[in-house]
Amino acid sequence: MTNADVVALAHSALMDVYACMPVAFERGEGAYLFDVEGRRYLDFFCGLAVTSLGHAYPSVVRAVQEQVGKLTHVSNVFHTEVSARLASKLSLKFGGGKVFLCNSGAEANEAAIKVARRWGASRGGRYEIITAHNSFHGRTLATLAATGQQRYHVGFEPLPLGFRMVPFDDLDAARAAVRDETVAIMIEPIQGEGGVVVPRDERYLSGLRELCDQRNLLLILDEIQTGVGRTGKFFAYEHWQVKPDIVTLAKALGAGLPIGAAIARDEVAACMTHGTHGSTFGANPVASAAALAVLEALEDGSVLENCTQVGNYLMGELKALAAGETKIREVRGRGMMIGVVLDREARPLAQACLEQGLIVNATAGNVLRLLPPLNLTIAQAKEGFEIIRRVLKSA
Ligand SMILES: *Cc1c(COP(=O)(O)O)cnc(C)c1O
Repeated sequence: MTNADVVALAHSALMDVYACMPVAFERGEGAYLFDVEGRRYLDFFCGLAVTSLGHAYPSVVRAVQEQVGKLTHVSNVFHTEVSARLASKLSLKFGGGKVFLCNSGAEANEAAIKVARRWGASRGGRYEIITAHNSFHGRTLATLAATGQQRYHVGFEPLPLGFRMVPFDDLDAARAAVRDETVAIMIEPIQGEGGVVVPRDERYLSGLRELCDQRNLLLILDEIQTGVGRTGKFFAYEHWQVKPDIVTLAKALGAGLPIGAAIARDEVAACMTHGTHGSTFGANPVASAAALAVLEALEDGSVLENCTQVGNYLMGELKALAAGETKIREVRGRGMMIGVVLDREARPLAQACLEQGLIVNATAGNVLRLLPPLNLTIAQAKEGFEIIRRVLKSA
């Protein structure tokens, strides 16, 4: 099949909810993807921050192949060693706490919301969760209600109640929004979908932590995009030396296999007793094996170190370019999560990059979002940067 054949077949049968690029990929190798016609692309997108170790990372491939031949599913009526070991490692990373394993980001946030509500139910019947404008927390009805972007809500009302939105990066607004009903504050440390928005207030996250401590609220950090090393630390919150009560992970956790996790402090997780939550596929052994291999690959710190170094290099090049290029308004981000804010719509530029063999993402209208693999080399960073420079120049 050609790219066009696959696109036509997909359009004939799939619900048309994605504004897809007209390319069908066949295989991947490290930082590169190959389409069905054999054309090679440098991947600065990683399937939305998912394949953070690059494609076909050998130890992940091995772990999945071994597990898929042994056991693919037993349900949570029983245990498997692989998911027990994964939960134990995640708990350790968090510094103690209990893990709920599920299959996606929205499900991880849904679990976090349920934990917060159940925790609040026995603490004065509190239920309201403060979230931020411009946030993204998922597409299920509750996570949609938590998402501070009106355009995603249209046509899906009535949405679940119990969410109150405040401007991001505004500590006073969060403080003023706390009411008797408030149980938690849920925030992305760096907004991803919203355009790679890094808080300008260095004290924002620690301020939220203090506010939560003062008012007996839970701090929930949605690290579905920023987590698992994307910003150069395993959890992005480590940059600000704060610790949430609940953190959610998904995207990069399974290196491409669907898996999500909500991790809560022991005292908070204690409210989740038998029968209060569940997922048939949650803690799936194959997805767990992939996630274990990912955690092991990050263990010695060299991938995170590379993420910081090559990410800084790429951001430095982009900032230098921005100095002489009026089409760029701002370059922002952390590690391998970089937003290039343009003076125009980003999608045509993402399209032009694709035609030049570089995959980047357009988000929030005018932001080119770069999410390269954490193990990208300097040479590959240069290769991608050169394409971006050329495309911007001729735009
Ligand atoms: C992608 C994302 C989600 C939703 O994850 P899904 O796996 O698509 O359900 C939630 N929060 C953040 C911050 C995300 O980037």
